[in-house]
Amino acid sequence: MQQETKRGTLVVLSGPSGTGKGTVCGVVRNHLGDAVRYSISATTRKPRTGEEHGREYFFFTKEEFETLRDQNGFLEWAQVYDNYYGTPRAFVEEVLASGKDCILEIDPQGALQVRKATDEAVLVFIAPPSLEELRSRLTGRGTESAEEVEKRLSCAESELAYRDKYDYIIINDDVETAAAKMEAILLAEKCRSARNLDLK
Ligand code: ADP
Ligand code: 5GP
Repeated sequence: MQQETKRGTLVVLSGPSGTGKGTVCGVVRNHLGDAVRYSISATTRKPRTGEEHGREYFFFTKEEFETLRDQNGFLEWAQVYDNYYGTPRAFVEEVLASGKDCILEIDPQGALQVRKATDEAVLVFIAPPSLEELRSRLTGRGTESAEEVEKRLSCAESELAYRDKYDYIIINDDVETAAAKMEAILLAEKCRSARNLDLK
């Protein structure tokens, strides 16, 4: 008898800008390859140098975003730093149904919406070792103006206040260790009793 494909795990990842989410996910991606897929969000913010439509984000106009939103096309959406960001629903559903894990890198407002919308989401918060280190990472990345860095740092404190709403917290002091923790969470979630009650 052919075994039914087990549904993948839906992982919601948040953490202040500059905390290392992209870097840690890059390492996980190198280790796990195609078994884990990353949802590409839609946003109304302008692309940064080097960013491509369909790779980092789907860059939408406000009107395009609102049309998809009004068609219930987003699993969640939120306004972050003056722009809209949202997770297209269809891709996530397709990945999970294919048995692969799907990671959404979204802000806490979005994470809490996903928690409400479904009981299958695992919420992981990536925290910086300290606010001082966060400032140095954001400045060192060099992708935002000094004014934008200050804005993101002041948002960081309010984002950190949400961390107790998450299932797991990973403190990103070392990239490899943080990635190993993320992979351990993915593995542990696969062993949940509710997912493994069926016997042959
Ligand atoms: P995010 O995706 O959360 O906004 P990034 O992955 O872009 O953050 O990381 C922000 C900056 O911090 C980058 O320059 C990255 O190289 C650096 N960084 C990430 N993780 C660490 C770490 N554990 N130690 C030191 N620097 C790090
Ligand atoms: P950035 O502009 O630096 O790429 O992202 C800014 C913020 O938007 C980050 O906190 C990021 O996690 C969040 N974000 C990115 N995509 C989404 C999304 O689809 N939904 C929500 N709610 N937040 C998102």
